[in-house]
Amino acid sequence: MRVLFCSSEVFPYAKTGGLADVCGTLPPELSQCGAEVKIMMPLYKEVRKNIDGLEQVSDKIWRTTLGDDVEVLFLANDDYFDRNGLYGDENGDFPDNLMRFQFYNKQVLKVLKDLDWACDVIHCHDWHAALIPVYLKTLYREDPFFQATRTVLTIHNLAFQGVFPKEQYAQLGLPEEYFSDDGFHFYDQINLLKAGIIYSDEVTTVSPQYATDIQTEEYGCGLDGVIKKHRKGVVGILNGLDYHYWNPTTDEFIVESYDSDSVVKGKAATKMALQKELNLPIDLDRPIYGYVGRISHQKGLELIIDALSALQNDNVQIVIQGLGSPEYQQELTQLRNEMPDQLGLCFAYNERIAHTIYAGSDWFLMPSNFEPCGLAQMISMHYGTPPIVYRTGGLADTVDLYRPDEASGNGLVFQEYTTDALLQAIRLAGKIFEDKRSYSQLVSNAMKTVFPWRDSAVKYYELYKCLHLESQEA
Ligand code: ADP
Repeated sequence: MRVLFCSSEVFPYAKTGGLADVCGTLPPELSQCGAEVKIMMPLYKEVRKNIDGLEQVSDKIWRTTLGDDVEVLFLANDDYFDRNGLYGDENGDFPDNLMRFQFYNKQVLKVLKDLDWACDVIHCHDWHAALIPVYLKTLYREDPFFQATRTVLTIHNLAFQGVFPKEQYAQLGLPEEYFSDDGFHFYDQINLLKAGIIYSDEVTTVSPQYATDIQTEEYGCGLDGVIKKHRKGVVGILNGLDYHYWNPTTDEFIVESYDSDSVVKGKAATKMALQKELNLPIDLDRPIYGYVGRISHQKGLELIIDALSALQNDNVQIVIQGLGSPEYQQELTQLRNEMPDQLGLCFAYNERIAHTIYAGSDWFLMPSNFEPCGLAQMISMHYGTPPIVYRTGGLADTVDLYRPDEASGNGLVFQEYTTDALLQAIRLAGKIFEDKRSYSQLVSNAMKTVFPWRDSAVKYYELYKCLHLESQEA
């Protein structure tokens, strides 16, 4: 089984979000399942900086190896990719993004032919690679080289669709007829993800519940109808977590590493370090509720901000780390002035502080309004910090409500997206924290919850096999 991964971001070469983690971890796992996998991505300036010993294959292609045997090919075009930033800079999105990504998508198919590497599946990720299925079924429709090739498109976050002004349509190099309701047309604009969904043989997303959510008007970002109409629907396959990296037993960022036997001691030492780091009073009896992530609407920051104002007389501390909306950051700074003993803030990207929050908090706040999969709740659970989440997307698939009578569950889940529901959950968490037996049961359950990448890889591999069978029967 030959599989080509096409993603604009792959960790450790270029990353702006979770997409890079998935595309850096899944290919080696698929290779272990028996697939022969290659990756093709743009040769960004950042890639040249991040890799020593990049090998030049031709004037257009550079290469390296990921894991033991996954070949990564970087497609060069210095006019498009040799600049600071992947999609934009301080002035916003690059104005030539459509040109840049149509080049990358077309180049992938040309390079496959140049290398004479016919593959069974091209696995495309997000809008940056969504033109590949379209080009295959239009420009390359009759090409014998691609007759057995099938496409999978994975949506990592439906909120990002690659939408461009219709005046740029000619840049795609496709006949006018594809700018239609069954193609790129989307509210008088061009929508790359929409066309990719329509032309892919299989559409997947990163959790089963998100697969359901995006078929509703509320979470469908205008594409719910298109997704529902796909002949195969959309399959949700949960992402995994890299447990080599996220491991409290070996974590060098925290002051005292720990496992499930030494969790109380390890977390107490880290909690004190966290309080010191963020200038909060040292107090082990006061529960700390931590947040790490983008400061954005998606992550439920308005609920957190509203809840904070109501928590000023509660015996709690809240720590928030992240970067994002200047308005939310300003509101949080204002609140910090009002409740300096209760609120700790860090508006920076800082791996060490993030690990300290995952390990040193007693609860992890993640009231996302929508969540394709979410990594932070998986990380916090493994560090023995039960998450408090809204029942949506990947959060609904990974966090089970704690039930003291059955000693089951690994966190707290609230059902209505309101500040009151979040507040109730936070206050219930406070009560559970005081009852040491219940709390340690919950911590133990959370630490045992794991989402290995191998489980996801096996599911993708099965899906590729079905597509391959279909192509043989066609
Ligand atoms: P997203 O929707 O942003 O991909 P996830 O929960 O899937 O959210 O993953 C976010 C990842 O980024 C987590 O690993 C989290 O620890 C990390 N992260 C987010 N913000 C920061 C920050 N300011 N400093 C360090 N790590 C961060």
